[in-house]
Amino acid sequence: KISPIPLAVRTTCAYCGVGCGVQATPQADGSIGVKGDPAHPANNGKLCVKGSALGETLGLEGRLLHPQVREDGAMRRASWDEALERVARGFSDIIAEHGPGSVALYVSGQLLTEDYYVANKLMKGYIGTANIDTNSRLCMSSSVAGHKRAFGADIVPGCYEDFDLADMVVLTGSNAAWCHPVLFQRIARLKERRPEVMVVVIDPRRTATCELADLHLPVKPGTDVWLFNGLLSFLAREGAMDAPYIDGRTTGLAEALAVANADCADPMEVVRICRVEPAKLLAFYRAFAATAKVVTAYSQGVNQSSAGTDKVNSIINCHLATGRIGRPGMGPFSLTGQPNAMGGREVGGMANMLAAHMDLDKPEHRDLVQGFWNSPRIADKPGLKAVDLFHAIEAGKVKAVWIIGTNPMVSLPDANQVQRALEKCELVVASEIMASTDTTAFADVLLPALGWGEKDGTVTNSERCISRQRAFLPAPGEARADWKILCQVAQRMGFDGFEFGAPHEIFDEHARLSSWRNGADEGGVKRAFKLEGLAGLGAHDYDTLDPVQWPVLRGPGGAAVGTARIDCGGKFVATAPRGPVHAASAEYPLALNTGRVRDQWHTMTRTGKAPRLAGHVPESFVDLHPHDALLYGVREGELARVSSAWGSMVARVQLGGGITRGSVFVPIHWNGQTASDARVGALVSPAVDPVSGEPEFKHTPVMVEHF
Ligand code: SF4
Repeated sequence: KISPIPLAVRTTCAYCGVGCGVQATPQADGSIGVKGDPAHPANNGKLCVKGSALGETLGLEGRLLHPQVREDGAMRRASWDEALERVARGFSDIIAEHGPGSVALYVSGQLLTEDYYVANKLMKGYIGTANIDTNSRLCMSSSVAGHKRAFGADIVPGCYEDFDLADMVVLTGSNAAWCHPVLFQRIARLKERRPEVMVVVIDPRRTATCELADLHLPVKPGTDVWLFNGLLSFLAREGAMDAPYIDGRTTGLAEALAVANADCADPMEVVRICRVEPAKLLAFYRAFAATAKVVTAYSQGVNQSSAGTDKVNSIINCHLATGRIGRPGMGPFSLTGQPNAMGGREVGGMANMLAAHMDLDKPEHRDLVQGFWNSPRIADKPGLKAVDLFHAIEAGKVKAVWIIGTNPMVSLPDANQVQRALEKCELVVASEIMASTDTTAFADVLLPALGWGEKDGTVTNSERCISRQRAFLPAPGEARADWKILCQVAQRMGFDGFEFGAPHEIFDEHARLSSWRNGADEGGVKRAFKLEGLAGLGAHDYDTLDPVQWPVLRGPGGAAVGTARIDCGGKFVATAPRGPVHAASAEYPLALNTGRVRDQWHTMTRTGKAPRLAGHVPESFVDLHPHDALLYGVREGELARVSSAWGSMVARVQLGGGITRGSVFVPIHWNGQTASDARVGALVSPAVDPVSGEPEFKHTPVMVEHF
């Protein structure tokens, strides 16, 4: 008897923004074999530990399999009809009484683009409020705001191939070795091939990424703008700027340079503020000035700050000054946190954006989108950003919230405030794959959603590459796709425009909108984001879609043609340096930095299922410098209480993690489902960047004491 050869399904990893292609193969014993897809350009067959353990996270234990509704204080199983009706009626009644701004959606970079598209269409075009924000606010919004200020649109100009072609790679605010491992391995291979390539790591911690560094600058947390303003000033002084590029393609240099020179013209002043060795600072500045092919990649260490947008622009300024944008082997490069933070941005996933990268605050953009949707209304002002949204819920201004695919009780800053908000909220709806999370405990309606391997759609990675996520498992229990649940609620609220039968129909509408003209001309709308080469895809073409980078145009014979790099000019932004909102004090003398560990993802609802992933770091910890441990009377291996003005938690003390004096590090993953509540979010300051609304996850004053 010959066994049939199992068929591999090509899909995309569910975790980080590298967006690796995965081949998933159902095995005879019911398990799923997972390996890298050699044909996917993001990873060429490679996977990191998290990606290769995807098959171990697919079991149904703990899954939410049926709708539930709250009755007399307790949750009980309900039919889909009852649950959907409760959501639709609840939202409609609250809107009728208090207006559209009294309801909100809080969604996730784990959603597929099609889910995100429908959620935004419902809120902005039909309910008529922009109160839809996403957990991407917590990781990428400073990059989005920085891109918009510099390029006029949310554009990542470069691509992964630039990392192969560079002569110098600067990684700033990024522990890529743990957080974007497959891209980091790509840089490691570059270094192996061409050892003369210089790798610079700028990070207050000596992380695993530093193993590849020729130069590590352990800057004082929060001082990045001083560092890059100093570099801009140095480039001007040394005659290392690209004058023809600046004259022809940019604006605003004089203002940006004046601001940079005001505080950072003297490298010794930068040394004093950033607390780095003078020789190291000058080595970095000189190498940057002398090397044409430089990629500066940055991530949450830059974004998650009350000055995150300025940090992003201070980096982009140095690339504009040297004309190193959108050309092979050079450019600023934002490393996206989540698998689809970029796709969400394409459909207006945030409270201040519209679909197809259009702007909510531009009337001509609103007209165009409303005209295309033929919708009864369009939100005419930005909605509440994540942190403000939960404050508005606590204040009673927002009375119904629908949380989709995210766990704000663990992941938002000042997480105890989130609890107060959810306790007060009249109607809390949660679409989830897991039955019991810190957030589902507060739900009045629980809607079972499809997870990775069960759902179908597209995601977009850090280099603008759109890839398919494909289903290879049946829907468990009564779980449904997020886009379908949203459409069913929209229809029950009496809205047309949500008659989608399959994800390819939603993707087609999204692609057509990206190049739609409102009447004869563009109506004054200039667009960087275009998918016209993908408009009109039928079910088969969508199913077999190969990864492609936007903008996607139509080539000869109608073929879709992607774009590796975007050669955009840009605007210099004057970035006056400023420190974190809350400085360390006598009561809270240490600066808390938060981040990921290598083998866990977000709040561990999925990676927590794979025992081998727990082997790397089995429990939460607080990492201190040995001198600080002595000073505050805690010892390695013991439990310590870490407290801030907002909350406290208990974690095991770890020394020797390469952290500078005056700082501590706690991972973000552990949640309140464990014996001791290890939600670091409860400690984190709710201060946000005034432009992007991104919280300051990298700098909260704390105290560490013996527990
Ligand atoms: Fe998945 Fe990121 Fe690892 Fe690639 S690098 S396998 S996308 S977690």
